[in-house]
Amino acid sequence: MQDAPEVAVLRLGHRPGRDERMTTHVGLTARALGADRAILPAAAGEAIETAREITGRFGGPFAVEATDSPLGVVRGWDGAVVHLTMYGERVQDVVGAVQDRHREGPLLLVVGGGKVPADVYDLAEWNVAVTNQPHSEIAALAVFLDRLFSGRELDREWSDADRVVVPQARGKVVEDVGSED
Ligand code: SAM
Repeated sequence: MQDAPEVAVLRLGHRPGRDERMTTHVGLTARALGADRAILPAAAGEAIETAREITGRFGGPFAVEATDSPLGVVRGWDGAVVHLTMYGERVQDVVGAVQDRHREGPLLLVVGGGKVPADVYDLAEWNVAVTNQPHSEIAALAVFLDRLFSGRELDREWSDADRVVVPQARGKVVEDVGSED
């Protein structure tokens, strides 16, 4: 989030055709819950397009990048790598250490889809479980980001939005705030 070192989310193991919606939601969840950038496999064209389009409509800052080599991103990352996996250490036990590290520099959060290469477990500074039960990369990412930011992401400000949703007890109100040019 603003005024802190970068948090980027990397999606591994995208299966074209099968994972399009999940990868889209990884990107949208990363954006909505305070990450600065999503790095998505180049093969996930629809997900990349949707995440960029939503950022254009509902604001940022948020960057969406495509990569041909997700593992290369992990290997080349200049900062700490956190891999979300049901086999990892419990989020409630390690999040304090991750927060300390994030004060010093950027974090790469890695989520999988299909089988995650064994290398990733070794390359990660932390393998972190959001419960040691199998569920979903989107749920794991959402809970992890909320814990990382201690809920502050819920109050973040958005810049350059064309549309703003006005909270309502019932019904839908969306204000068009885009510039005319
Ligand atoms: N065997 C996988 C694992 O290592 O967590 C579950 C595969 S799940 C379909 C796809 C992705 O969801 C995983 O690569 C992981 O990033 C995330 N995930 C699923 N359950 C999780 C959990 N309990 N804690 C953290 N991440 C989880």
